[in-house]
Amino acid sequence: MKRTATVIGAGPNGLAAAIVLAQAGLDVEVHEAAAEVGGAARSGALTLPGFVHDLGSAVYPLGISSPFFAKLPLKEHGLEWVQPPAALAHPLDDGTAVMLEREIGATAAQLQALDTFGRHVGLAFQIVDDILDQTATPEELGKATKKDAEKGKVTYPMLLGLNESRRQAKEQLSHALEALKPFEARANGLRALAEFVVERHK
Ligand SMILES: Cc1cc2nc3c(=O)[nH]c(=O)nc-3n(C[C@H](O)[C@H](O)[C@H](O)COP(=O)(O)OP(=O)(O)OC[C@H]3O[C@@H](n4cnc5c(N)ncnc54)[C@H](O)[C@@H]3O)c2cc1C
Repeated sequence: MKRTATVIGAGPNGLAAAIVLAQAGLDVEVHEAAAEVGGAARSGALTLPGFVHDLGSAVYPLGISSPFFAKLPLKEHGLEWVQPPAALAHPLDDGTAVMLEREIGATAAQLQALDTFGRHVGLAFQIVDDILDQTATPEELGKATKKDAEKGKVTYPMLLGLNESRRQAKEQLSHALEALKPFEARANGLRALAEFVVERHK
């Protein structure tokens, strides 16, 4: 005997369940209280003739990658995915927000900026490390100092002197901060980290 499944409600979840059950070979009954199917995902005329409005939900950023939707012939029923430049944004407690952008260039530009930041901070760290090895006491650093000179290592202070080395560390800091400009306040943590790297005494 063929089994029958009864689905109450023809919103997107009820319809999805009904499709899965039907595909599994069951007879499916869908009961919908409203005059039309679709639940909160319905659209319809609300204002001027010719305009179709979302009556509830409007944006489905992850719908296009849904394995379930991909298996359905939705295009044959008129589905067209319309893509905004930013698929979604999520506000965070500190007042910043995360944006999910479709444009790979936006992501690539941000990664490039972070790479530039990292290279300048890395160099600044090394210069300050060389300076501290020469100027700080073992108590201040918590480790042996003057090791570079003992080993005859070529360092920034050895080649350029302390003043020029300090100037170059600050120059690296300013390049690093410049790279963070597009991130505005969202990169304040990275700014503080870069400043710490150059101002540190140990
Ligand atoms: C204003 C609004 C905006 C939203 N915006 C988004 C968005 O932008 N993006 C997004 O992903 N999601 C959004 N959502 C959420 C999304 O619409 C829901 O997650 C989705 O509609 C849930 O689907 P569902 O099938 O579970 O329920 P629903 O869509 O609520 O469908 C339930 C259906 O069951 C019917 N029903 C209820 N009780 C009975 C009964 N006893 N007998 C018969 N029928 C019954 C109702 O009439 C309805 O048609 C939004 C929701 C709302 C309300």
